[in-house]
Amino acid sequence: GAWIGIVGGGQLGRMSAMAAARLGYKVHILSNTAPSPAAETSAKVTIGSYDDPSCLENFAQSCDVISFEFENISASGLKHLARFCTVHPSGHILETSQDRIAEKTMLGSYGLPVAPWREIKGAENLAALASFGFPCILKTTRFGYDGKGQFRLPDEEAFQALLRQADTLPYPLVAEQHIDFAREISVMVVRGHDGTVRCFDVAENHHREGILRVSIVPAPIMPALAEEAQKLAAQLAEKLGLIGIMGVELFEDKNGKLLVNEIAPRPHNSGHWTMNACLVDQFEMHIRAVAGLPLPPPRRHSDVYMHNLIGPEDMALLPEIVAEENASLHLYGKEDARPGRKMGHVNRIFPRGGLPGAMVLQNYKPCLKQ
Ligand code: ATP
Ligand code: MG
Ligand code: MG
Repeated sequence: GAWIGIVGGGQLGRMSAMAAARLGYKVHILSNTAPSPAAETSAKVTIGSYDDPSCLENFAQSCDVISFEFENISASGLKHLARFCTVHPSGHILETSQDRIAEKTMLGSYGLPVAPWREIKGAENLAALASFGFPCILKTTRFGYDGKGQFRLPDEEAFQALLRQADTLPYPLVAEQHIDFAREISVMVVRGHDGTVRCFDVAENHHREGILRVSIVPAPIMPALAEEAQKLAAQLAEKLGLIGIMGVELFEDKNGKLLVNEIAPRPHNSGHWTMNACLVDQFEMHIRAVAGLPLPPPRRHSDVYMHNLIGPEDMALLPEIVAEENASLHLYGKEDARPGRKMGHVNRIFPRGGLPGAMVLQNYKPCLKQ
């Protein structure tokens, strides 16, 4: 079989590798840590640096096509890979998604709605926030995930406190108006070699302490809004020339207007529900797109409530979870359950249409805390 290379050794690589194996491909993982969740489920693993040209070259020459599950490989590293092997999605898309300023500029240039924002280049620009208004959020432009690298400024007083430590902040920063959203939703969109674009159903997402906690599908929103979100994600995939899967995170504001929060050109945590509620899940769809296979229309056969297992508290509940009747457990093989670490997830499955998302949230009491 053909070899698919995946840069990154995390759980997204692990689940992509399992999907690839089902389709008869061999997976070669490039990871900068050992052991890793993806190493356990792949045919071949190289431990090495994402910035070492000879390591990248050797890896590329052993693969027929390469993708990534880890977004912070340097753009120059990815471009180096692309000299020796096809890489999907392109380094250009990765580069855009790595930098919040490039990302928001791209979204704006395509006419897509985002929260009002501005760039804060250094301490001397910070004062300009006063005219921007509060509450607002400051985010590092690069390497943020799970809400890390964010500063919330609820009011003028918090702003004054921040000004006093202006010299210590990790510039450049992006300031965003705080959106008092009605809900957070996301769309997984995939685009193939032949330009076919497919969207999975819209998920409603709930975060706790900046980390995704629960995704509910179908999202309890009007069908027209769901369609609008999918249309927007599809447009974005086409304009970017995406090949592979991408998560699009959105806010629905109190007026029912959609705003794009961020994109992730890879399988996404808020798409894990597809593993048990769809015939072809996000990982298989990604592998199909990257490998040039057809992309069937996503078919969702169940309603689903995806719950992340985070840190030691959730791992302590495993005996109860494995005994549940309608729960499918996915563990990532991580040994060390540090607080805040994503250890796995559970998909709780309901007959399609039997439990609309809003009812699941109100009536269903899983043993895990929200
Ligand atoms: P990840 O990549 O893990 O999704 P991240 O660190 O890149 O997270 P964001 O997705 O930008 O960060 O923000 C994390 C969460 O913080 C969002 O899902 C949302 O709940 C909240 N948030 C971010 N920006 C805003 C905003 N402008 N207004 C209100 N809430 C926000
Ligand atoms: Mg992010
Ligand atoms: Mg996010």
